[in-house]
Amino acid sequence: MGSKFRAIVINQDADRKVSSSFQDLDSDDLPDGEVKIDVAYSTLNYKDGLAVTGKGKIARSYPMVAGIDLSGTVTESSSPDFSPGDKVVACGGWMSETIWGGYSEKASLPADIVVPLPPAFDLKQAMAIGTAGFTAMLSVMALEDAHVGSADGEIIVSGAGGGVGSVSIALLAKLGYQVVASTGREALHSYLSDLGAQAIVARADLDNESPKPLDAERWAGGIDSVGGNTLATILTQTKSHGAIAACGLAGGFLLPTTVMPFILRGVSLIGINSVILTAAQRRAAWLRLARDLDIAKLEAMTEEATFDDVPKLAAEILKGNVRGRTVIAING
Ligand code: NDP
Repeated sequence: MGSKFRAIVINQDADRKVSSSFQDLDSDDLPDGEVKIDVAYSTLNYKDGLAVTGKGKIARSYPMVAGIDLSGTVTESSSPDFSPGDKVVACGGWMSETIWGGYSEKASLPADIVVPLPPAFDLKQAMAIGTAGFTAMLSVMALEDAHVGSADGEIIVSGAGGGVGSVSIALLAKLGYQVVASTGREALHSYLSDLGAQAIVARADLDNESPKPLDAERWAGGIDSVGGNTLATILTQTKSHGAIAACGLAGGFLLPTTVMPFILRGVSLIGINSVILTAAQRRAAWLRLARDLDIAKLEAMTEEATFDDVPKLAAEILKGNVRGRTVIAING
């Protein structure tokens, strides 16, 4: 018998209904992994909301430990890259899908999804960033790769009050971009301005049910975590040779668009995926976060909650009621 630890476990019943519950597991139950970790913090992402409520089929096998992110301390390692006592962070990398995740006091992970904690951050700040912040960084890097520069004009960030949106605004503002935030929550206007948004557009203005093939050009680039009509509308308003990083579906997964923005304006639509990445790509994005994320702004957008709060918060994030980032203290 190993030692007991607590985790949120997702299961599927005989009618294929997915649900999750807190369970006491034994450390002998942990899957084989090169790096064993005592988890300090996890966090709350939209995908965690889908997984924990069972509203989205995130887990691909059962039982599955939920939580797509974790930070903590290595207790055992068969990888030469990590030693006991190392502080580490892991985001995405199939956690909560095929690999037991971070809503757990203990984890056992493949070494290639584990990243040494950058010295700029402590374990809690790393989870204030989490997959949402990591994805924001990947999105900014994608705009840079597409040659969208800070002098090119306004950058639209949709779903601005959420995790990806909030971190995107802070990063873009620090890099000198002119950021326009789109939100459905009027109460968040001053929060978004404090993060660095220079202007705000109402969510409804971009949620156009049948956007024209092309509209007046406004955006040099954008980071979209909403999808659906919002992404379609943004594309019609993107300037010649602008680029939009598409990373989310908070507003829907269909994309009712035409080829016009692509063939008449040379607009690029860049897909962002934070799960399928090499170890080198993960480390590069964390190094950029360490350089380009303003810690004071990260703290301003972050709340802390307990492990017990996760089921309630999972339902709230799907309703669009959570602001910015939420750190979950597991053993922190
Ligand atoms: P959050 O819930 O924190 O943010 C989503 C935001 O979208 C909300 O805060 C809200 O912002 C807006 N929103 C919510 N519901 C709607 C709606 N029905 N219509 C339009 N806007 C809406 O989630 P995250 O930031 O964690 O994730 C955002 C999206 O990005 C999710 O779809 C998630 O699955 C995806 N994602 C994808 C990743 C990838 O690898 N591609 C990685 C991480 C996230 P406001 O109130 O300000 O309008």
